[in-house]
Amino acid sequence: MKFSEFFVKTLREPPKDEESVNARLLEQAGFVRKAAAGVYSFLPLGWRVLSKIENIVREEMDKIGAELLMPALHPKENWIKTERWNALDVLFKVKSQHGHEYALGPTHEEIVVPLMRSAINSYRDLPLAVYQIQTKFRDEPRAKGGLLRGREFRMKDLYSFHQNENDLENYYTNCAIPAYKKIFKRLGLNAIVTEASGGTFSKFSHEFQVEIENGEDTVYVCAKCGLAKNKEILEEGVGCTVCGKTTWRETTASEVGNIFKLKTKFSDSFQLTYRDNEGKELPVVMGCYGIGTSRLMGVLVEKFHDDKGITWQEAVAPFKAHLISLYESREADEIYEEIGKDLVLYDNRSLVKTTAGEKFMDADLIGIPLRIVVSADTISKGKIEIKRRGEDEAELISKEELFKMLKSK
Ligand code: ATP
Ligand code: MG
Repeated sequence: MKFSEFFVKTLREPPKDEESVNARLLEQAGFVRKAAAGVYSFLPLGWRVLSKIENIVREEMDKIGAELLMPALHPKENWIKTERWNALDVLFKVKSQHGHEYALGPTHEEIVVPLMRSAINSYRDLPLAVYQIQTKFRDEPRAKGGLLRGREFRMKDLYSFHQNENDLENYYTNCAIPAYKKIFKRLGLNAIVTEASGGTFSKFSHEFQVEIENGEDTVYVCAKCGLAKNKEILEEGVGCTVCGKTTWRETTASEVGNIFKLKTKFSDSFQLTYRDNEGKELPVVMGCYGIGTSRLMGVLVEKFHDDKGITWQEAVAPFKAHLISLYESREADEIYEEIGKDLVLYDNRSLVKTTAGEKFMDADLIGIPLRIVVSADTISKGKIEIKRRGEDEAELISKEELFKMLKSK
């Protein structure tokens, strides 16, 4: 895409009212804009990154569940049934002019469970798993850390339905956890599987924690086997669940995913039942599995940046290459057309208005993995210049080599 078509507007300075690295860099580089505390617009560059993250999540979730889309506006009655209308402190409540009351969905058990009553009748309908990738709302007391904690944010939530706890355990351990590990690995993140309190329904839930400096969570990682526990549950002197050792390393992290065994807590609220092979009516056993996709985008920036800007990983970079022309000719236009607008961001701003230095600074700030420069000097040598983001050395290659390189992967 061309800068001019793509609403790329970088700022000279980072925004003054943001403290976290991800918010400062994402706003300055033109990926997001704040509309209110904890509420962001994703500009074309940012939406491309978020979509790439969500597509990786989608590809792995499609292997273990079916995608659907549920509403963000939830009838109050459903939340009364689960006794969470008053109990959930972060619930946004909306009163319509016609006197109806709604919640803005912070999570979707209140919708998915009654929905599944029409899908599940007998044991033959189980197991079943559905998921969505959607905007969630939570009235967080303190929205801080840019994309790390929003009042409106994006989440993937999957819900699984089973005949019994054994089947839930099997899906949870052998389908969900491996899928989660695959997703975070594809995103270039090392997510630590962390035991956290399971609430009232089971001993542990599992969080997927990525170590970052300004992470909100404190986790203890077993120095021997890598298992981790959230500080909130870890009592003094407690040993590792896997290897029994008590040598914990303390670190700060951000929770990018969280999975729970809900058992029959929500099935009971909505009488979600099935008939077993003897015709006996039993409650459906459930699990739920969340990933914060917009938080992930923030975490990626917290992890991958330097003093000049963002350093996106290939898998989520908005484009493969950033093309800069320092030469008023058709040369760069032709390279752009050959590579194709889906792979390259083309800084086609006039050199009269934007200096070479400004173009280079923006390229570093935006953080696309490969920079391509077309100048009178390189063209006279029959070459173009390429440089990887984060490396100092540029190299000269032929156009043919460049096209081969960009199209091969
Ligand atoms: P946290 O402990 O961070 O408050 P949570 O345990 O309440 O989150 P879940 O309800 O399990 O979160 O939601 C699933 C995922 O959604 C979380 O693991 C996190 O990545 C993401 N998430 C939760 N709240 C927010 C938020 N306010 N802003 C951005 N992402 C969020
Ligand atoms: Mg949590």
